Amino acid sequence: MSKYAFGVDIGGTTVKLGLFDKEANVLRKWEVITSKECGGTKILPDVAESILNVMAEMKIAKEDVIGVGVGVPGPVDAKGTINKAVNLGWGVFNIPEVLEGLLGVPVKAGNDANVAAVGEMWQGGGKGYKNLVVVTLGTGIGGGIIVDGEMLTGSRGAAGEIGHIHVNDEEEEACGCGNKGCLEQYGSATGIAKLAAKRLAKDEMHSVLRNKPFVSAKAVFDAVKENDPVAIEIAEEFGDYLGKGLATIAAVVNPEVFVIGGGVSKAGEILFKYIEPVMMKHTFHGCRNVELKLATLDNDAGIFGAAALFLM
Ligand SMILES: [Zn+2]
Repeated sequence: MSKYAFGVDIGGTTVKLGLFDKEANVLRKWEVITSKECGGTKILPDVAESILNVMAEMKIAKEDVIGVGVGVPGPVDAKGTINKAVNLGWGVFNIPEVLEGLLGVPVKAGNDANVAAVGEMWQGGGKGYKNLVVVTLGTGIGGGIIVDGEMLTGSRGAAGEIGHIHVNDEEEEACGCGNKGCLEQYGSATGIAKLAAKRLAKDEMHSVLRNKPFVSAKAVFDAVKENDPVAIEIAEEFGDYLGKGLATIAAVVNPEVFVIGGGVSKAGEILFKYIEPVMMKHTFHGCRNVELKLATLDNDAGIFGAAALFLM
């Protein structure tokens, strides 16, 4: 009788792994270094070796493993084929095919943000919902869209790239993707820091943010909580961009909930004060049932979601 699944979240510097039972308990959680030598060809063998070691230690037979789910930082189609992961040095190949060959157990793979969204639906902030969009406000903006309980991958695995929705015609700086005026240029931690730098340079208005050499997204929201007027203006600008972006997504997906995660979400529900009014103002009336919630799995969303590809 099969009893366990592994969740693997491959990142640019570390690979997070988790061993789960059918009841979603994490029995073991660990990390290995992402070896980027030789065009990333060592990564999957390292993952396989690490999993086989844990199976041997815990006396888990191959027959007891339902499967190994994998999230990777790049577009992955519904069959598990990666279409280039620049961070890992990977080209185009089928992940399950390679990893099943190394492990001898079933493997499924998906884009890391999409897989993390599945994790939040399974055991996190989106638990109980079947139509949700997970928005990860980190260095960039990641997104995972779930419709009727199914992860949306799109034709080439690039569905849910909501950070690159165009929201500003006036932008002169390029986004990491090469376009100009993408949502993540204003709504991510990096984006908020840039909004802050621009706002502070505009005039001399008093602000606690002026004493700092670098104004981070965290510093902005800490100052908002102290009612700093400049920080509040920055938060309003952030909320304006993100609220409009979410309204656009709501009109396309009609989700029950947006689950907001990533480093910026550590500011807490105060974010919603700036996002929600703008979002509701611009959301099509038929989609205004959408709620805002905070993600709860933090950096573990990826391993939960990867395991959920087999356990949910
Ligand atoms: Zn972009």
